[in-house]
Amino acid sequence: MPSLTFEARSYALRDNESVLECLTRHGVTVPHSCKSGICQSCMMRSVQGAPPAEAQKGLKEAQQAEGYFLSCSCVPQLDMEVTLDAPELFLVPVTVQSLVRWNGKVARLRLQPSQSLDYRPGQFVNLRRPDGLIRSYSLASVPQHDNYLELHVQRSSGGQMSEWIHDQLNAGDSLHVSTPHGECYYRPDALEQPLLLVGTGTGLAPLYGVIRDALRSGHRGPIWLFHGSRTGTGLYLVDELRALAGAHKNFRYVPCLSGEPELDGIISARADAAAMQQHSNLKGWRVFLCGHPDMVKTAKRNAFLAGAALRDIQADAFVSTH
Ligand SMILES: Cc1cc2nc3c(=O)[nH]c(=O)nc-3n(C[C@H](O)[C@H](O)[C@H](O)COP(=O)(O)OP(=O)(O)OC[C@H]3O[C@@H](n4cnc5c(N)ncnc54)[C@H](O)[C@@H]3O)c2cc1C
Repeated sequence: MPSLTFEARSYALRDNESVLECLTRHGVTVPHSCKSGICQSCMMRSVQGAPPAEAQKGLKEAQQAEGYFLSCSCVPQLDMEVTLDAPELFLVPVTVQSLVRWNGKVARLRLQPSQSLDYRPGQFVNLRRPDGLIRSYSLASVPQHDNYLELHVQRSSGGQMSEWIHDQLNAGDSLHVSTPHGECYYRPDALEQPLLLVGTGTGLAPLYGVIRDALRSGHRGPIWLFHGSRTGTGLYLVDELRALAGAHKNFRYVPCLSGEPELDGIISARADAAAMQQHSNLKGWRVFLCGHPDMVKTAKRNAFLAGAALRDIQADAFVSTH
């Protein structure tokens, strides 16, 4: 079995164990969140022994060349010596500018960064609270319009970060965010291309950023948004989205409730099912899918089967630590 060296101590790896699992099992604190190779908050660097290709997926070429890897998806095949000297540690201090709790279910957080942050609406940041807990949240703000970073946080019952944000965080408090990650953003390279956006819960956050960015960029093709929740408390920004649809002929907004009857222009259906029923041929479309991992997985498969090219499907599954 390969051995793992960290800060001059060697650790025996168990069969199929990741670097993150091995180090945390031995009481070493490694920042992490999704444990699925997405959020990049568990990035480490190898000083000896090449990391497996799987552990460098999604990292920039320069980072790969310098030996950076994601410790949650690194199951060493050879002896490795690793350090915590990773770029993710260079976090940007932010102050909570405002915090609005909608329906007790979704909190809108506006953050003032201490330095300007280069990002595309729809990407995500890793938010770190003072005790070091890290979670990923998507950016609903548009830098050309908004002088703050906007996040939408859904209360997850028993969830460490989301309950703390809903119950204890206040305007004026200090946090840190990482530099932005992710591929879920608008590309102004095909202004006529039809766009289909499907989100559940706070999966609306990145989509709200993408839609406003597309409209700001002069997108001319049709833009369809299906936003879903089981109950009415999970639907938010309804008035804002209706107003946006009123102001832009090419933008259509379809709010959906899967657990309640039809009401006041809100249809009774799952958002992904309603989207596929309306658009059974997605050849040539660009598709954005965000929110619950099961919805994202099913909708990705269905969008592909309906003709969307894989390179035109951007999917952010909001996987959680557990
Ligand atoms: C790329 C990305 C973007 C994201 N963007 C957003 C966003 O814009 N908005 C948003 O709201 N979320 C987003 N998320 C999800 C977010 O990062 C968190 O996972 C979410 O807020 C829950 O975190 P938490 O600390 O509150 O819950 P956690 O403490 O991580 O717990 C998650 C759930 O597991 C349960 N749980 C806790 N301990 C256990 C256990 N021992 N066994 C079984 N179950 C347990 C909890 O009750 C809770 O329901 C995103 C995730 C990713 C990966």
